[in-house]
Amino acid sequence: MTDIPRPSQPASGPVTVLVVAAGRGLRAGAGLPKQYRPLAGRPVLAHALAAFAGHPRVDSVRVVIDPADRVLYDRASEAVPKLGQPIAGGPTRQESVRLGLEALAEDPPACVLIHDGARPLVDAPLIGRVIAAVMDAGAPAAVPGLAVTDTIKQVDDNGFVTQTPERHRLRAVQTPQAFRFDALLKAHRAQAGAGLTDDAAVMEAAGHRVLVIDGDPANIKLTHPEDFALAEARLSPPLDDIRTGQGYDVHAFGPGDHVWLGGIRIPHKAGVLAHSDGDVILHAATDAILGALADGDIGSHFPPSDPQWKGASSDRFLAHAAALAAARGGRIAHLDITVVCEQPRIGPHREAMRARIAGILGVTLDRVAIKATTSERMGFTGRGEGLAALAVATVRLPAG
Ligand code: MG
Repeated sequence: MTDIPRPSQPASGPVTVLVVAAGRGLRAGAGLPKQYRPLAGRPVLAHALAAFAGHPRVDSVRVVIDPADRVLYDRASEAVPKLGQPIAGGPTRQESVRLGLEALAEDPPACVLIHDGARPLVDAPLIGRVIAAVMDAGAPAAVPGLAVTDTIKQVDDNGFVTQTPERHRLRAVQTPQAFRFDALLKAHRAQAGAGLTDDAAVMEAAGHRVLVIDGDPANIKLTHPEDFALAEARLSPPLDDIRTGQGYDVHAFGPGDHVWLGGIRIPHKAGVLAHSDGDVILHAATDAILGALADGDIGSHFPPSDPQWKGASSDRFLAHAAALAAARGGRIAHLDITVVCEQPRIGPHREAMRARIAGILGVTLDRVAIKATTSERMGFTGRGEGLAALAVATVRLPAG
């Protein structure tokens, strides 16, 4: 841990975070500026906004954006507390920060944190450290830095080494960087157009001392596609509590001219006797998922005694089971179904059923299997008295 100098001039007053998200960085792919790309179910920018807005020492958060991204910004910042109006950025990062500071100057904070919108993994301890360095320890500027493990070479225009700096004196710096607001605003005004890529450098150029404190190796800047995979893995808890559930359902044939199977209406010489639409595939699948969740059965969630389920379309039952899995942070990995009947023939409808079930569950088609068999004219299904379905569901839940 880098020592923070003893208090010289502790500061008091509000702390504002300025998140810089005006870049067009498309290098990481997917056609969207990277700060708006989805990451673990939310836009990249939303993760950092949540971290800052949730920090007890942060009073307000503002974001510098490209006005062309306003719709994306509104989505990424939805329901974030402590958030002020977005500020229109400029053509360079340095200019965007200066415009952001000018906007804050109307009601100046004591301390401002500047953060890159493409660093979603910033956490509360790091935010607390940079704020403490400026507010409590009195540093005019504090930036998180990491010791470098590679030897760094400085080269000339032809690629020849001009210098090998001592590695133990080198730090790779990150954001958030914290500053006395008035000092940073003055430095930015003085250095406008200098083409600096980091606000600490703006302060250095203005003659201020900049303290480097311990950074966080996890606080990566998303630049390349593989960075997204890394960040995704860090933000998503592993779904390694793997559950298997089974379901079984039977309905007898009765008067009618069609049956519902796998969410598909199939013309048939009979119907089924049932309180709901009598879809044995969807009922077995629902029970299989509920079984994997150890959360009762279809009858306990949708009592047949309740008139509201009379004639109900069974996709509601399956969607409810899927929602219960999602509410627990889970994912349906696979559903394997076997239908047992002599009639109707399943084969011609198999793909339509798979697509329907995959649609209800919100999974890809390759996660739904439907198989059919007869019982060789033996037993109730063999005599054509009714039909049955068996299902096995594999559900992945977060460990814990
Ligand atoms: Mg049933």
